[in-house]
Amino acid sequence: MNEPRTDPEISVVVPIFREAESVGPLCRRLVPVLERVASSFEILFVDDGSTDDTLLAIRAENARDPRIKAVSFSRNFGKEIAIAAGLDHARGRAVVIMDADLQHPPETIEAFVAKWREGYVMVYGQRTDRAGESPVKRGFTQAFYRLFARFGETELPEGAGDFRLIDRKGVEVLRSLGERARFSKGLYAWIGFPSVGVPFVVEERQFGTTKWSFRKLFRFAFDGITSFSTVPLRVWTYLGGLISLLSIAAAIYFAVRTLLFGSDVPGYPSLIVSVTFFSGIQLMSLGMIGEYVGRIFAEVKRRPLYVVADTVGGSGEASPVAE
Ligand code: UDP
Ligand code: MG
Repeated sequence: MNEPRTDPEISVVVPIFREAESVGPLCRRLVPVLERVASSFEILFVDDGSTDDTLLAIRAENARDPRIKAVSFSRNFGKEIAIAAGLDHARGRAVVIMDADLQHPPETIEAFVAKWREGYVMVYGQRTDRAGESPVKRGFTQAFYRLFARFGETELPEGAGDFRLIDRKGVEVLRSLGERARFSKGLYAWIGFPSVGVPFVVEERQFGTTKWSFRKLFRFAFDGITSFSTVPLRVWTYLGGLISLLSIAAAIYFAVRTLLFGSDVPGYPSLIVSVTFFSGIQLMSLGMIGEYVGRIFAEVKRRPLYVVADTVGGSGEASPVAE
């Protein structure tokens, strides 16, 4: 239990959710790479409330190699929050974030570290292809990036995901942000600092299946847009104005027609159409406002982002946030 309190040079944060089979193979491939590129390191799994033997598998690894540690959530909080917890508990002078499923090739970390030593604060993996993903998912991803590029207030580098290295400087800034609706891809870009991409090829998933349901992905994209853009809030004002103008024009047209030709059959169908049309618009705008109000609510509550239930290998307390 009495570990020497020297901080490792590099921490690798791995959010993990129900991937017991991945733990061993990941460590087998990751440790040699880290031994080659870093003077010292730790691998910090953030167990996102797995219900299988994930934590057990990590304990087994820790027994063999105390540099492998874990923080375990009391339930599933989602990958974004797991990454936030990883950044809180990692002690390295640089932190690498990667998936547990070996889709992020550990060997790429060598290039990350080289760029970091050149002085970059942020080194992100840039996927060169999206093979192995369903066309539907790819379509949605593309649509999302296009939307974000158009309306988001921050620029997202193409093909950059969570696989990246962040210098301690950047980590402290990220930790101090304290946003609840975490869209880390946006936050990474928002904090700035000298950044560079390193291309890598996403590998096939080795074990199990993706842990993202369509609902989770949609939620994620929605969080991204609403956290980094107020366009969804404002667009309704313009649309409302335009519709009002059109309805005034229509009113004038009907008045003139009645004056010239007299009134014909009372406009029952057009009445129904306009009523439903406007209630639709109102509902949509109410929903949008609800989104933002909900966000304010979540921020105001100041709940902790996550609850740690257990730790492996002394990553008990988070280091204090730098001012
Ligand atoms: N993950 C997590 N919590 C979740 C969902 C996923 O920590 O609620 C982890 C998962 O274990 C993996 C990483 O996030 O290490 C990426 O998940 P996955 O491979 O399922 O996503 P994909 O690669 O399909 O985007
Ligand atoms: Mg994956």
